[in-house]
This record gives sequence, structure tokens and C-alpha cells, in this order.
Amino acid sequence: MSGDRGPFAEIVVDLPLAQPLTYRVGEDEHLAGPGVCCVVPVGRRQVTGLCVGRSDETSLAEEKIRPVTRWVGEIAPLSEAWLSFTRFAADYYQHPWGQVAVAALPPLLRTPPGPRWAATLKRARRAGAAETAGAGASAAPPLNREQQLAVDAVPVSGGFVPILLHGVTGSGKTEVYLNAIERLLADDPQAQALLLVPEIGLTPQLQSRLRARFAATSIVCLHSGLPDAERSSAWLAAHEGRAGIVLGTRLAVFASLPRLRLIVVDEEHDPSYKAGDGVRYSARDLAVKRAQMLGAPIVLGSATPALESWAQAIQGRYRLLRLPRRASDAAQPQVELIDLRQHKPAGGLTEPLRTALADTTARGEQALVFINRRGYAPVVVCDSCGWLSVCPQCAVFAAFHKTDGALHCHHCGWRRPVPRACPTCGNQNIAAVGQGTQRLEETLSAALPGSRILRIDRDSTRRRGSADAALAAVHAGDTDVLVGTQMIAKGHDFQRVSLVGVVNADAQLVSHDFRAPERLFATVLQVAGRAGRSGLPSRVLVQTRFPDHPLFAALRRFDYDGFARDQLADRKSAGMPPYMPQALLTAQARTLEAALAFLARARTLGRALPEPARLYDPVPMPLARLAGVFRAQMLAEAPRRRALQVFLREWLAQLRSDEPRDGPRVR
Ligand code: ADP
Ligand code: ZN
Ligand code: ZN
Repeated sequence: MSGDRGPFAEIVVDLPLAQPLTYRVGEDEHLAGPGVCCVVPVGRRQVTGLCVGRSDETSLAEEKIRPVTRWVGEIAPLSEAWLSFTRFAADYYQHPWGQVAVAALPPLLRTPPGPRWAATLKRARRAGAAETAGAGASAAPPLNREQQLAVDAVPVSGGFVPILLHGVTGSGKTEVYLNAIERLLADDPQAQALLLVPEIGLTPQLQSRLRARFAATSIVCLHSGLPDAERSSAWLAAHEGRAGIVLGTRLAVFASLPRLRLIVVDEEHDPSYKAGDGVRYSARDLAVKRAQMLGAPIVLGSATPALESWAQAIQGRYRLLRLPRRASDAAQPQVELIDLRQHKPAGGLTEPLRTALADTTARGEQALVFINRRGYAPVVVCDSCGWLSVCPQCAVFAAFHKTDGALHCHHCGWRRPVPRACPTCGNQNIAAVGQGTQRLEETLSAALPGSRILRIDRDSTRRRGSADAALAAVHAGDTDVLVGTQMIAKGHDFQRVSLVGVVNADAQLVSHDFRAPERLFATVLQVAGRAGRSGLPSRVLVQTRFPDHPLFAALRRFDYDGFARDQLADRKSAGMPPYMPQALLTAQARTLEAALAFLARARTLGRALPEPARLYDPVPMPLARLAGVFRAQMLAEAPRRRALQVFLREWLAQLRSDEPRDGPRVR
């Protein structure tokens, strides 16, 4: 029996526990209730807890039940809606509720309040309030017809309306979001809007656009790159309703927003919306669910929607709206292919691309060269014995970085100076093979004497603010050629870029990942979208060994629809998502054998369940060893999502009860 005033409190904590813990309400009984944060003893530690209910009875021995140490009454309870949403997310992704809900709280609440906590809280509230000060409101361009239709499709009130906004790059999708938010705030100045973007790098640009537009509204950012104090005060401003607009990366989907009435997911196809550790969620999918639970509209925007979203739109479950032209009336760039079998690249660069770059810079225009690999070269080899630079902890090559003369593992962070001679045979002739951003930068400097080359990747932008400074240099025209990874591909509104070079598109054409073609298509269209934005005639040159691949034919026509149709037909006939819901069970162990054996046992247990999903063979993961840990996986699939969910729940329960006391833990 549960009651609002019972003597027991059900508390979730950030620990791998299947059920909430029970505590005595203790002192400050009047503060206790669902959604209230607290501090509770777990073993000998005091940890942050979140109350999810009170009850009159318990099946536990009463004398064993300990009291809550402290109720955090200084902060308003998390809403019922927020609790339901985090509970849904936990269930859906088969993760303990506390590890979703408590893990989503800001640093301020995640550490039990100490003696100076009241002062910290006060500071956090003040910092949040200061965010309001904005510049004067900037004028909005009048919307074109398609934009207006899109804005009108977003109801100011009136329930869950999922909208897929398919707009080519530069078609003015952001203007649509801004106008939809404007209308919402005009209707209800207290309302809150959540705007999700895939990358931290995109927040400052959008933030200043928002600030300029919504001078009277408090706008806060939420992402993992923020210092603790800033994150806490932004979270509080959202939770306490002071922030009208929350701009954030995937973790912001869990923000507490008591007056949330509109969600926007920009670049909804972006893989960054998927979290890879902890609870493995898709922020886009959760955003849709959150909007549905709230009865609010959600706009998913992209030039290359995820095929999952596209399928929903085609089947009529999402409303599809299109912005088929660039807003400025600038033409799309011309996409051309350079056949690598005919044009041998030197240092990554073919002659036609070099010539095009030289012509572009000679005209005083800017060029952008994209390569999806950082470092100088992906591997170092010995030409005598065949030694390869491999990370000792991962099953991958360690890349050579010329900037510090070291080998780097991009997966686990392992690093060591590059050896002078082959560690196996002593041969002095070891060579860096292939290209990354650093080598390409070097090639470009040699090929384009006098041009100002700027490299932007994770290595060149480690210091806080350095990415902004580099991008500002491009906007200011202080750069002729920008070379970089996907960091330069997304979102940026470069005005004088008229040439885009794509150096190595092929790795993704031959990948084992069934989503690779979709990603490649999106990436190339995304970088192509940086060219010709202000109306300059522009070109995109793609170096490839497979110029006849159908993906390129669609790319050259900017034909997303055709590409999506072909891909979805392939997925359907091959029994792949979104037509066949799948889940991956992964195992990590000290040996590959142990990981595979665990999965084999799991398969036996799974097949014994009443309605088993189809379970494939356990296999090593594509990255079979990471930071010294061996990894294996097994695919489960069922024709219906619901059936798969039910199966997974029972299967995981079985696995947990089968868990040996001191063996591997099932998470
Ligand atoms: P997207 O988000 O689709 O890439 P943006 O909203 O950033 O597009 O718009 C691209 C450019 O076009 C921006 O410089 C923006 O100011 C401009 N723009 C957007 N809508 C209009 C419009 N209706 N009229 C004129 N310019 C517009
Ligand atoms: Zn050797
Ligand atoms: Zn490694």
C-alpha cells in the first residue's frame, strides 16, 4: 500500500539496484514526498537520493530500516511528469531508475550538502538570474512561404504533434525554430522551450542568435563541457522556471522543466544524440517520448533525417514539412567526384582538388577540406618486418601525432613517444602511413604556398574557447583554407566558403556498420552545406575509388528522398531497423573467451524463455578490445518493439538471478 503520508519513503539512488530503497521518513516529515531530493545512508556512505513515493507498509523488518539523513527542502520537488519520464527512460533502456534520475541531477545536488551548501545554492541562483541580460532584440527576416507553413504547423497549444522538418542546409530551419518559440512565448511568457543540438561546439553560435532574438527571455545552456557551478545554476534556472529557453546537448533531454511546452531537436539524425555509456539512450527518441507524455509539439529538424524518423514520416506518424530551397536563394553547390584510380593522391591530395583549391584562394574565396581522422597518420609501419603501431590495450592502431611526436590511441587515450626504430626488428625505416588532419595541413601548406591554412579538430581546440576563436578567424576572413574533422562540417554559417573538398569518403562505403552509408550521405551533404551560403557559385569535390556507387549519384542530385527510399528498401528486405527492432547485448571481460562464454550462457537462458526473441551468435565487437577489456556482443531481434521489450525485461531478470556471486555483474 502506498500513501502520501506513510512513515516510509521509497528512495532511488545512483547505484545499480533494480528496486528503490526503503527508508524511514525521519525528521522533517513534512518535507518528504515524491520528487524531493534527500541524503540517505547506503552502507557506510551518505549519498544523494530522490524520493519516488511514500508508503504505509513495508515487507522489510522494521528495525532494519534506517531514517533519511536529510531532506533537501531548499529545492522544489521534481515534478510528477519528470519522475514518470525518467522512469519510462529507465524501463525502456533497461537501466535502474536511480541511475537515470539521480544521475540527471546537477553537481550541486549530487553531492550531499555540506556546511557551506546554503551559500553555494544562493550563488547558483544568483548566477542563473544574471543570464537574463540580453542585447537588444535583433530583427528577424520575413519568413518565406515554406517557413511560414512550418511555423504554423507547430501548435501553440493543443497536444502532442511530432513534426519532421526536412530542410536542405541553409534553408532556414533555425528561423522556423525561433519563430515557433517566439509564438509560444507570446502566448505564454512563462512557458519553456527545450532546444537540443548535437554538439557543444554549436551552442555558442546558436546561443548568441537566441540572445539577440529573445532579449527579455532567460536562456541557459546545459552540456557536459560546463564547469560544475555553471551547470548547476543553469539546471536550477530551468527547474525553477526562470529559464524560458534551455539550449543543450543530449543530456539536456533530462532537464527538469516544469513549464515545458515545446521541444526542438536540431540535426535530429546526428549520432551524437546517442549516449554510449551509462544508460544507452537516444536523446532524440526520448525527446519524442517526453513530448508525447507532456502533450506538447516537437520539431525534429534535419537536411538528412535519420531513416528511422523518415520512416515514421512516410508512414504518417510524424507530420512531414519541407524547406526545399536555401533561404537566401543561393544555389546548392555542384557536387563532383574525383576518381582516385585515375588521380593518384600525394599526401592525401589529388591534382584536380589542388588546382581547385588554388583557384579558389586566388579569387579571395575560402575553401574547406574535410577529413574524418585526426592526428598525422592513422598508423606507423615497419617496412622490413611488418610491425604496426597498435595500442597495447585496444584492438586498434595507434595514430601518429606529429605535433608531439607521439603515438596516440584515439579510443583509450594511451600515448607514448614514437619509437626511433622498429621495436621488433630494429629497422630505422618506419613510416607513417595514410593521412589525418595534421598531415593534410602539411600537404596543403606545401601545395598552396602563401595561403593561410587553419586546422580545426579536437587536438587543436583542447583549450576552452579555442574552437570559438578559430571559427571566428574563419568568419573574419583571416583564413584561406580550413582543414578539419566533422567539427567543421556541422551547422556553421561560413559566408565566403565556395569550395569543399572531401578527402576520404571511402572508409564508410566499405564499413561493416549498416548505418555507414546513411552517415556518409549525411556527412557529405552536411559539409557541402558549408559551401556557397552567401550566393557564391560553389563546388564540392569528393575523392573516391568508387565513383559509380549509387550513393554518389543521389548525392550529386541532392536527392535525399531517393537515397532514403533505396536504403529503406534495402533495410526492409534485409530485416534491419527500423523494420526489425534489434537490441545488442554486450559483454566485457578480461578474456575474449569469458565474454563469449557469458553470451553463450545468456543465449541458452534466453532461448528457454516462453517467447524468445531471435538470438544470433555471440561475436567479438568491431572494437574487440578497449582499454584492456575484451568485448563481445550478441544481437537480439523481434518483429515487434513491444515483444522485444518484454523479452529483454525477462531475459535481464534471468541473467541477474543467474549471476554468480563473484562473477561478472549484469548491468
Ligand atoms: P538552417 O538552420 O536550415 O541551416 P538558418 O536558419 O541558419 O538555416 O538560415 C540560413 C541563413 O539564411 C541564415 O543566414 C539566415 O539568417 C538566413 N535566412 C533564414 N531565413 C530567411 C528568410 N526567410 N529570408 C532571408 N534570409 C533567411
Ligand atoms: Zn620491424
Ligand atoms: Zn587504446
